Amino acid sequence: MAFKLPELPYSKDALSPHISARTLEFHYGKHHQGYVNKLNAAVEGDSALAGKSLEDIIRTAKGGVFNNAAQVWNHTFYWHSMSPNGGGAPSGDIAKAIDKAFGSFSDFKEKFSTAAAGQFGSGWAWLVKDAAGQLAITTTSNAGTPLTEGQKAILTCDVWEHAYYLDYQNARPSYIEAWWNLVNWEHAAKNL
Ligand code: MN
Repeated sequence: MAFKLPELPYSKDALSPHISARTLEFHYGKHHQGYVNKLNAAVEGDSALAGKSLEDIIRTAKGGVFNNAAQVWNHTFYWHSMSPNGGGAPSGDIAKAIDKAFGSFSDFKEKFSTAAAGQFGSGWAWLVKDAAGQLAITTTSNAGTPLTEGQKAILTCDVWEHAYYLDYQNARPSYIEAWWNLVNWEHAAKNL
């Protein structure tokens, strides 16, 4: 049973002008699909992986198998971390949890943006809930994911160059600023 590229939760032009349809055509249609294809090729060639869930593979595999499996999961989570109706400030329990952990929403926004901009090379910025139930900002390199860190992912921003280069070239901070206009607070609240 091969893994499938999950459907995007919106059309490819829905995040424009913050993220273009052209970026989604490549990022979703080529990069995310590519990770799915490579994962399926690895599973096909290794009977020990047959029948395992994506999460099981991420928690146990190393090397290329881990990289492709984690990138499949991270990207699906990233698409859901954004919405055409997103952005603005959170409300309800997620807003309270952010205030408690970071002082205020604007402090959280600044800290998250700084972490995302400062991640050297390819990776991800995350809002996570740690084992003690506390919210924290983390970054991971390459395919790194909170699933292997005992953390629950709440939101993510992909900071690989392929996420923003067509729209913003090397200006990662401009992409991060645009990403805030798309943040899916309903998704964050559900993960909390
Ligand atoms: Mn990506």
